[in-house]
Amino acid sequence: MIRESYSKAGVDFEVYSWPEVLKPSLKCYDWDRMQYRAGCIIEDLYRGVSSLDEGGYFVGVGMIDGYEPGLNFVFGLAEPRKRTGVVFTKRLKEEFYGRPAKFDLYVERVAKEVVHELGHLLGLPHCHNKRCVMSFSNSIVDVDSKERFFCDECSLTLKKLVLH
Ligand SMILES: [Zn+2]
Ligand SMILES: [Zn+2]
Repeated sequence: MIRESYSKAGVDFEVYSWPEVLKPSLKCYDWDRMQYRAGCIIEDLYRGVSSLDEGGYFVGVGMIDGYEPGLNFVFGLAEPRKRTGVVFTKRLKEEFYGRPAKFDLYVERVAKEVVHELGHLLGLPHCHNKRCVMSFSNSIVDVDSKERFFCDECSLTLKKLVLH
């Protein structure tokens, strides 16, 4: 496990990274759609991550494809009540769209989606500002249009949420 400490805008926080690979549960796999059910994966992660007892937030990252009922796919999902989120990276790869791999672009997209789900876990809703990391992404074009940062409005809301 890698532990890093940060201090930003008067808030101290710690980030833990687990290099271990968790195998997604097959019970979450939809054989007809050949995708994982996002809610099921979150439930799995929630039950498997003990650090949540200490009041942390957890985002799992998997190179798989996920969906939620009513949607063809999702890049990620967050369940604030469980303090757990997930990011599915299969559709964040250029190869998925039949284009040559671009590692830096892939990492940038993953970072945006992880920050997005963390924002939800901390209480932020979707943002109308297309450049804000909290804007909803319906396609990879949307992901590329946004930055990996919160807009001024979301930053302010986040500060209130974290410092309340
Ligand atoms: Zn969202
Ligand atoms: Zn925003």
